[in-house]
Amino acid sequence: MKTLEQIGAELQGYDPQALSAEAVGEFLARLVQPLDQHETIDLTDALDRVLANDIVSPLSVPPHDNSAMDGYAFDGAQLRAERPLELEVVGTALAGKAWQGTVGAGQCVKIMTGAIMPPGCDTVVPQEFTQPAAEGRVAVPPGLLRAGDNRRRKGEDLTEGLPALRRGERLTPAACGLVASLGIARVAVARRPRVAYFSTGDEILSLGQAPREGAVYDSNRYTVRGLLARLGCELIDLGVVRDEPVQLEAAFRRAAAEADAIITSGGVSVGEADYTKAMMRQLGDVAFWRIAMRPGRPMAVGRITQGERSAVLFGLPGNPVAVMVTFLAFVRPALLRMMGTRAEPPVLLKARSAEPMRKKPGRTEYQRGIVSTLADGSLQVRTTGNQGSGVLSSMVQANGLIVLHHAQGNIDAGDEVDVMMFDGVI
Ligand code: AMP
Ligand code: MG
Repeated sequence: MKTLEQIGAELQGYDPQALSAEAVGEFLARLVQPLDQHETIDLTDALDRVLANDIVSPLSVPPHDNSAMDGYAFDGAQLRAERPLELEVVGTALAGKAWQGTVGAGQCVKIMTGAIMPPGCDTVVPQEFTQPAAEGRVAVPPGLLRAGDNRRRKGEDLTEGLPALRRGERLTPAACGLVASLGIARVAVARRPRVAYFSTGDEILSLGQAPREGAVYDSNRYTVRGLLARLGCELIDLGVVRDEPVQLEAAFRRAAAEADAIITSGGVSVGEADYTKAMMRQLGDVAFWRIAMRPGRPMAVGRITQGERSAVLFGLPGNPVAVMVTFLAFVRPALLRMMGTRAEPPVLLKARSAEPMRKKPGRTEYQRGIVSTLADGSLQVRTTGNQGSGVLSSMVQANGLIVLHHAQGNIDAGDEVDVMMFDGVI
């Protein structure tokens, strides 16, 4: 396990007091390693888990050539461009009940979607394409079909012996269905990261406490909880911890003993006259960063150690929007990495800004945006208004973050900007 100093030395121009958002990502990719512990669970419980091994298809899907339509199966070599093809119906093939006979020239079999293609047949004319013909016969009009139409090939979805899904893949609803289509009921998945989280600050009230002057209710624990739950982490809620050495030490020690990662909020800014930073320093290897970004400038990162165990620490700022933005920008990719899945950079959409935005080059800014589709189909984005880092309602109104990159300057109305949508993340 590398120390923060070692990781810092690997990165060019690492300066904890002036870090670009990009450099933070690179640092965390070195600090956080996959957990590398597996368990085998029922597919029913596997949604959003991460595959620990490749899944190799034990069979082909579909297992036979079969019909994609309700209609009539026949040998497509008989089709002619200039005249209808009249066929005698010699039997019926049902899904799950194959036609056993042989189909000769001038013959066809009535076939249902999913039924095995009878031997000698490679083409299906859909029921609705056929034209009336004498009793027991159908006519296929010319020009509508080519040989091989409406036949699904054996193995066109998955091929026996080839990997259907790769290790590190997250089991989305589609992936769960794919695993089931292979007849596989149990899957080996990476252990879920256990994440302990607490809020710090003497002015922070827990729900149920009476309001008092100068105090605010703890919202961070609820946003963090939701963001962690969306990722499928195991949650250890350590509540609000007062800015007091004994309580802080107990919380950090317990978190390091039980969790893989610790997320705190508050108490990491420069002017902070409290014990949080001192306790982080005392119990682990922790760096205090000033990140060139807005919101979310101060952040503590490192490891807290308790006996043989250690947990990665993300000491997030206190401001509610800064908590969410730093989580999305840094903590989420790091936890995905811990889960053993690829933390691919989020897909950014391009939208035209409905308004000018002030932006200083030399830092990354995340503005809360509302993206909408204009009549011509193009995307437009406007901000939610007040972009204060404490204005949590802006995160509720927004459907994405406008990402104004490090080098970007002021934005004019009509300029294209990048947007990271919230879908499925928030
Ligand atoms: P700090 O980073 O501790 O200086 O806090 C910055 C701002 O965020 C202050 O206005 C705090 O009151 C506020 N804040 C800190 N923690 C929380 C929390 N858990 N819930 C809501 N607001 C918070
Ligand atoms: Mg504070």
